[in-house]
Amino acid sequence: MRCQVAIIGGGPAGLLLGQLLHRAGIDTVLLERRSRDHVLSRVRAGVLETGMVYLLEAAGVGARLRAEGLIHDSVRIVSDSTDVKIDFKALTGRHVVIYGQTEVTHDLYAARDAAGAVTLHDCDAVTPCDIDTDAPYVSFTHDGQAQRLDCDLIAGCDGFHGPSRHAIPAEHRTEFEKTYPFGWLGILSQTRPVGPELIYANTARGFALCSQRSPELSRYYVQCALSDSPDDWTDAMFWDELRRRLPAHVAETLITGPSIEKSIAPLRSFVCVPMQWGRLYLCGDAAHIVPPTGAKGLNTAASDVAYLFDAVHKYYDAGDETGLADYSTRALARVWKVQRFSWWLTNLLHRFPDQSRFDIEVQQAELAFLSESHAAQTALAENYVGLPH
Ligand SMILES: Cc1cc2nc3c(=O)[nH]c(=O)nc-3n(C[C@H](O)[C@H](O)[C@H](O)COP(=O)(O)OP(=O)(O)OC[C@H]3O[C@@H](n4cnc5c(N)ncnc54)[C@H](O)[C@@H]3O)c2cc1C
Repeated sequence: MRCQVAIIGGGPAGLLLGQLLHRAGIDTVLLERRSRDHVLSRVRAGVLETGMVYLLEAAGVGARLRAEGLIHDSVRIVSDSTDVKIDFKALTGRHVVIYGQTEVTHDLYAARDAAGAVTLHDCDAVTPCDIDTDAPYVSFTHDGQAQRLDCDLIAGCDGFHGPSRHAIPAEHRTEFEKTYPFGWLGILSQTRPVGPELIYANTARGFALCSQRSPELSRYYVQCALSDSPDDWTDAMFWDELRRRLPAHVAETLITGPSIEKSIAPLRSFVCVPMQWGRLYLCGDAAHIVPPTGAKGLNTAASDVAYLFDAVHKYYDAGDETGLADYSTRALARVWKVQRFSWWLTNLLHRFPDQSRFDIEVQQAELAFLSESHAAQTALAENYVGLPH
């Protein structure tokens, strides 16, 4: 089998890249370890930056997003003593769109199928090979048969646990990592969201977030211990704890119901440098992870895709390799800014087990400053709606 660009991983990064390349006349084969049903059953991100919305439209998958996506012009940040509205529209002229990652993935698979592009699911032992030569290939097994996919370039879009990052020789790869001493317990419930805006809360009992996926589907989170398991939390315990972390007037209007998904996500910051080696280019979670506080994981996967698409397009269109050579440098410049924002917002909004009285006073002062300062609100808003690609 042969194609121009082999894509490893059928999450949003691999699918979006494949779709943009297909529309530019560049052929791809996509190899995914899991079944389609498994990929489409994963509940993950849901806040799309304006730049990601433009990219999805450029990929020809904007129709359902335009019809069903919810435009959010603001978020609220509350604490025991402050309540501030971050008005994206007034501060930046932009907004974010609420549209679940599952829906994005669904739309991209449908477009890939319609285009007749090759997607192989349930692939095992996927390995990028000879990446430092002009004849790279991917070896894998499918339906019990050993296979080889020859290509010009390999896009490693296989998430944090995938094989692509490890194909960069260890002596040429630096991994930067920070873990946080807590997780997020999240539930999805078929209930009307508590309000029109997302609400982030920092309280003495810990962080909480009221998010949503649609007018009938709510996503809520509370900060929890890393040692907790979702089975430790009944739905009633979750709703009770969430209410205690929200301002009374919000808690009173919370509509509760059975959870249809419940999981605990650890929080981590991670960056792999460089994001390319030879003919292998990493995109999305394969190269970096952010804590979900700033809603940046999915959006940063999309900005990598924008840079890589631009570089690959120039390569095939004009024989210009400069974009490919600069890919990692360009992508990482934005990745680190996103890391900074996600780390900062995580520190601002969570209670840390080892936090001293001094740390808590400084955190409260920062929340008070945010509620009073137009400049501080603008900085938050600019980052939240998305830095330029
Ligand atoms: C539980 C959870 C909740 C999250 N919530 C948020 C959120 O609220 N906001 C936010 O912005 N971000 C969130 N994220 C992060 C966001 O979902 C990711 O940043 C996003 O999925 C990155 O897309 P990706 O395509 O790079 O990676 P992935 O979505 O991980 O896709 C990688 C794909 O590669 C496949 N793969 C792996 N190994 C192999 C292999 N050996 N061979 C072939 N294929 C392979 C995987 O099966 C997967 O389909 C969350 C992540 C998780 C795990």
